[in-house]
Order: sequence, then C-alpha cells, then structure tokens
Amino acid sequence: MAEVSVWSQVVGQPDAVAVLTTAASAARGLVEGTGGAGMTHAWLFTGPPGSGRSTAARAFAAALQCTTPGEPGCGECQGCHTALSGTHADVRLVVPEGLSISVAEMRALVQTSARRPTGGRWQVVIIADADRLTEGAANALLKAVEEPPERTVFLLCAPSDHPDDVSVTIRSRCRAIGLRTPSAAAIAEVLRLRDGVDAETAEWAASVSGGHVGRARRLATDDAARARRAKVLRIPLNLRRLSDVFDAADDLVKAAETDAVEVSGTRDEAEKEALKTALGHGGTGKGAATATRGSAGAIKELEKRQKSRATRTQRDALDLALVDLAGFYRDVLVTHAGAAVDLNHPDQAEGAAQAARSWTPESTLRRLEAVLACREALEQNVKPRIAVEAMITALHFG
Ligand SMILES: [Zn+2]
Repeated sequence: MAEVSVWSQVVGQPDAVAVLTTAASAARGLVEGTGGAGMTHAWLFTGPPGSGRSTAARAFAAALQCTTPGEPGCGECQGCHTALSGTHADVRLVVPEGLSISVAEMRALVQTSARRPTGGRWQVVIIADADRLTEGAANALLKAVEEPPERTVFLLCAPSDHPDDVSVTIRSRCRAIGLRTPSAAAIAEVLRLRDGVDAETAEWAASVSGGHVGRARRLATDDAARARRAKVLRIPLNLRRLSDVFDAADDLVKAAETDAVEVSGTRDEAEKEALKTALGHGGTGKGAATATRGSAGAIKELEKRQKSRATRTQRDALDLALVDLAGFYRDVLVTHAGAAVDLNHPDQAEGAAQAARSWTPESTLRRLEAVLACREALEQNVKPRIAVEAMITALHFG
C-alpha cells in the first residue's frame, strides 16, 4: 500500500483498515455491477478520544468515492481528494456541538442523504460525536438508519457503543469498527511522514500525547500548546504557599479560556458574516430592509449556539489540562511502586521522582483523586473556577 493512500491517515489501526478496505471493494463491486457481497448502510466507529474515529470514517468515505481502478482509496483521484478535504458533493460531515444539532436539521440532513448520489456512487453522511446528538435528533436519524436508501451510508462516531453513547436501537443497526489507542511509534511515524515534523520532536510529542494523534500533532507544531502543557505540569511541585493555590487555579482557567477563544474566535465571525450574507444584509433594495428586520432572530439564535459551543470548547481544553495533571500524579504513583510501565510524561520523570521522595503514596493517591473529582464536577456543570480551586486546594494539602 502506498504511503499516500487514504488509509495512511488512519494511524496504528491495521485491523480496522483491513475490514474497511474489504468493505470498500465490495461497495465498488455493487456500484460498478461487477458483484459485491452487499453493503452495510450504517457503521459505528468507536474508540477512545484521539484514536481517530472521524478520521477513519472520512478515509472510508473517500475509499467509497474513489474512482481509481485497483484497491479503493488511492488518495489521489478526484473522489478521494475531495472526500478527504471535505468538498465532495456526496459526503456530508455533521459535527454536533454546543446545543447540538436540532431535530429539524437532522430531518433535513436525512432527506438530502436520500437523494441519488451526484457522483453516481454513494451518499455518505459522517456524524462525528454521535454521542452528543439530542434524543430527538437521534430518533430522526434512527428512521433513516432503519430504512436506508439504496445508495446511502451513515458513518457514526462515538467513544463507545455503550447505551450512554449510542442508543441500543441505533447500535443494533450498525456494523461496529473498534479503534484502539495508537502506539507512540505509529504516532511519531505519521507526524514525520505527513506533517513533516523532525524525528526528535515527533518522538517526544508522541511519547507525551497519551495516544492522542491530534494532541501529538498540536504539541509538535504549536509553541503555545507546548508552553501551556509545560505550565500545567509545573503546578504539582509549585504549590508551596496557600497563595500559590489561587494563582495556579487562575492560570488553569484562563489558559482554557484562551484556548477556547483561539479555536472559536475566527470561526464565529466567519459564520456570522456568512449568515448575514445569506439573509441579505448589506443589500440596499427594499427587500434587503425587510430581510434585515426578519433576520435579527436568526442571528441571535446563531450567537446563542456559538456561546454554547465556546463553553464546550473551554471545558474540553480544561479537561485536557486535567488529564495531563492526572497523568503526572499517576507517574508519581508508578515511581513509588517502581513499576516497569511507561510514564504518561516521560519528559517529567525527574519531577515525578522528586515528588515520590517528598509525598507518601497515600497523599499522592489523594491528589490523583482530587483531579478526577474535578473532572467529574465539570462534567456535572459545576463552574470551572469553583471546581478548579477546590482541586488545587486539595493538591496543595495532599
Ligand atoms: Zn481514489
């Protein structure tokens, strides 16, 4: 298999790639009338965060649209290329975020997906974070999954196939593709080959990413992300006075806010401009004036959703910092125990050893539990500042 094939994006998942390649070949047989063992119209991609669920789904979508003879998914033809870059007319990506997608939107999507594919192959709908669908939207989707149009394929992505993530009825209609946490070696390789990262940086980023490909890429290529991680990992050994607690809490919450603004800021503006143009703002005729009055509600609705998305992004950023922190305390416990396992943060081994000398295993465990309790509190919508201050106080006293 050539390095450029669509599967080169699917890092460290040989089993999944084998299944998907076979399915894409069968799907091609159906389309081209050369035989095929039937097509599964709904697929569920599961795996831990960072295992590349939506990347695998997108690669499969590209293979379904591939027009080069031979193994589907060449990565170079128009079908592969546009499916991967998100511009293929028959591939739709839905990312429920913030308030999630509405029932009306899901119905519209299901309707579009029932049309004949313009390219003559498949209508593919990728739903990233299917676990974030509202019940209403999931029900609208279920109808389509139960009676799929002949040339429509739904690719759902979720952390697991547990009923909390995907309803049992939807799950029962899907063929499951389980992805695992890719190895550090596989991540380092893709950073080198695809992103052109130098070998040393690629290996370092892969070793501290916890198996999260996107996180590794960000650490390898973004100085600010690297600096934020270093700052988070300095917290455990820098809580000497009670006043340090509030400074550290402040730093953590503000860093998550900055992250959220960086991610959402430009996108929010672009969305608002696009909506205004669609609604006829900037025009000068009579019609434009009427449109302006009627569209205030639509803009307000968009702003509401953007705000909700920003909150979600901020929580995700804070959660990432907490995962890093929890990893450090785990490393201290591993060092206490002298266990022969890989550290979460091999580059902080010295700090972990220093902490292991100054804290008892019991107090290290209490600190780890405080971080996990903070994650849980955030999950239950406790205000970030309150949850983080409580956690850091616990980290200080141990
Ligand atoms: Zn192709």
